[in-house]
Amino acid sequence: MNERVYLVNQKEVNEKNTVQERNNPQEPSAGGLNRIKKVIAVMSGKGGVGKSTVTGLLAVSLKRQGYSVGIMDADITGPSIPRMFGVNKKPENIGLGLLPAESSTGIRIMSLNLLLENEDDPVIWRGPLIGNAIQQFWNDVVWGDLDYLLVDLPPGTSDAPLTVMQSLPLDGIIVVSSPQELVGMVVKKAVKMANMMNLSVIGLVENYSYMVCPKCGERIEVFGKSRGQEGANEAKVPYLGSLPIDHKLANFCDEGRIEEYESSETSDMGSWVKLD
Ligand code: ADP
Repeated sequence: MNERVYLVNQKEVNEKNTVQERNNPQEPSAGGLNRIKKVIAVMSGKGGVGKSTVTGLLAVSLKRQGYSVGIMDADITGPSIPRMFGVNKKPENIGLGLLPAESSTGIRIMSLNLLLENEDDPVIWRGPLIGNAIQQFWNDVVWGDLDYLLVDLPPGTSDAPLTVMQSLPLDGIIVVSSPQELVGMVVKKAVKMANMMNLSVIGLVENYSYMVCPKCGERIEVFGKSRGQEGANEAKVPYLGSLPIDHKLANFCDEGRIEEYESSETSDMGSWVKLD
């Protein structure tokens, strides 16, 4: 099968780099000028557990605490960050590199979806191309000064997340899990993968942990007793907390308004990744 390249600006960026290097080898690239204090990746053992949502909520929490924040949507084949933030403006090429899109509160976002002609075009890429795209998201994006760059990794423990992890200077990883996954080996596998790559695991978050009855306020553990703490202990990583199933959150994400979502469970997420 042919690898199909949809990164419309890739050719342009490559040409620019070649011409630039030939004409003026001293001219700085975007990557060399960016100053990013912490790069945190969010991973999950499999898809659909809320990894992108946790990335988005973490960004919102950090932004509300006054930090400058960017999100690199590295979930190349299933990018969902732009939609969650209601962002669809094509990143502008300012010569030095691509300017990330900016959300309504000023979170800088780069995603392959923003570069596609149609956001529902599939991206059918193998590992090397995914690696190239991530390298470009790091080297050719004008992130500027950031306190935090959050990286939404591809799900699972296959080639795609591995490529991304190897391509970026990560300071730490947050693992997101649903209650069902905690019963099996999926989370342990994800943590083991991070450990094998000498990456520090900041901790585990259990999503869909419970729901609150809208009528009586009772906390219902839909998938049985929460196993977040136990799962974290078994995987020998810190337990960061649990998030409830909240239809309001799903609606806000669907409508591109995650920045307007407020809840007591998510407001302090920024403290998970304190700057030294
Ligand atoms: P992943 O990145 O792991 O594939 P997503 O973050 O895209 O998963 O979440 C999958 C779907 O579940 C999305 O529609 C999202 O809005 C919804 N979702 C995630 N977490 C919650 C939650 N705690 N409550 C309600 N809906 C959620």
